[in-house]
Amino acid sequence: IYILAIESSCDDTSAAVLCNDRILSNVVASQKIHKEYGGVVPELASRAHQSNIVPVVDQAIKQAKINKEQLHAIAFTRGPGLMGSLLVGTSFAKSLAFGLDIPLIDVNHMQGHILAHFIDEDGYKKPKFPFLAMTISGGHTQIVKVTNYFEMKVIGETIDDAVGEAYDKSGKILGLGYPAGPQIDKLAQTGNPKAFKFTKPKVVGLNFSFSGLKTGILYFVQREVKKNPNFVEENLADICASIQYTIIGILMDKLKLAVKQTGIKQIAIGGGVSANSGIRAALKNGEQKFGWTTYIPKFEYTTDNAAMIAIVGYLKYLENDFSGFDVMATARLKI
Ligand code: ATP
Ligand code: FE
Repeated sequence: IYILAIESSCDDTSAAVLCNDRILSNVVASQKIHKEYGGVVPELASRAHQSNIVPVVDQAIKQAKINKEQLHAIAFTRGPGLMGSLLVGTSFAKSLAFGLDIPLIDVNHMQGHILAHFIDEDGYKKPKFPFLAMTISGGHTQIVKVTNYFEMKVIGETIDDAVGEAYDKSGKILGLGYPAGPQIDKLAQTGNPKAFKFTKPKVVGLNFSFSGLKTGILYFVQREVKKNPNFVEENLADICASIQYTIIGILMDKLKLAVKQTGIKQIAIGGGVSANSGIRAALKNGEQKFGWTTYIPKFEYTTDNAAMIAIVGYLKYLENDFSGFDVMATARLKI
């Protein structure tokens, strides 16, 4: 079965071709324009998708070494995401499926981040049900109990900012460019994680909160810069390491609680922040320390990509779960 998938929920235009559960191509065009603004500008994202989508899809088909007449279905991201961005992928997918006279499959982006683990990759094992998925990305921070491919229940989530947002906003305070997550991660590796102490939020249960941490970091930096104008430059690695240490502590505390409450020790992570070296190490450590089995996605399936949309498309194809052509992009689509 050949599936072409299109992902355009935020600022990456991506297309992938999959043969059953193997990826033949996964092309991602990251929009550079947003760097100038320190964050994603929705109107610019939508326009960039419009100019990227044809070449990206062409390239994905070319790299897969198939022709479009061989495709069995077109999968696309229906939501959640930015409406103007989602509309580009949705309309394109509909037209292509209509033109080729093949089924259309709508995919939930967050299910994509979770089910990316079911892409067949050498050296990567697939999770066993039931498992806990922690989706940590630019717009979400959730712990999801996954009983089957499409039986998912959110058992905890952020009540304010997402963890990726916490990284990006902290980076902005430190004068780092967008997205700051990967830069903080890199700088953290040469710093002392215990150099500075930031308070963890006091949210009971499995929910998260990150907006207080961001404010704490802002006040801390303002206070120190008053005493020493070069404070940030002189201590950048230590500040980043301390931020990373705090964030990972928050994520791990909640994971441990989720394991305790559910008795499930199979843990998968997904979303852009699952590229983070600190969370990867902490999870590996959890295998030894707590007897967890952990699933860490291949780097290219962490931030937004169409391969993860393609695998969900394939799983839905097997269930004959197709969409009507009246399906609409849905900005706030729930799991
Ligand atoms: P969502 O999936 O919730 O709709 P999104 O699609 O915008 O949001 P992703 O592409 O999944 O988000 O992830 C992007 C986020 O991941 C950004 O906030 C970025 O800073 C963060 N990120 C990427 N790599 C790292 C890293 N190594 N360490 C920390 N954060 C990272
Ligand atoms: Fe995402």
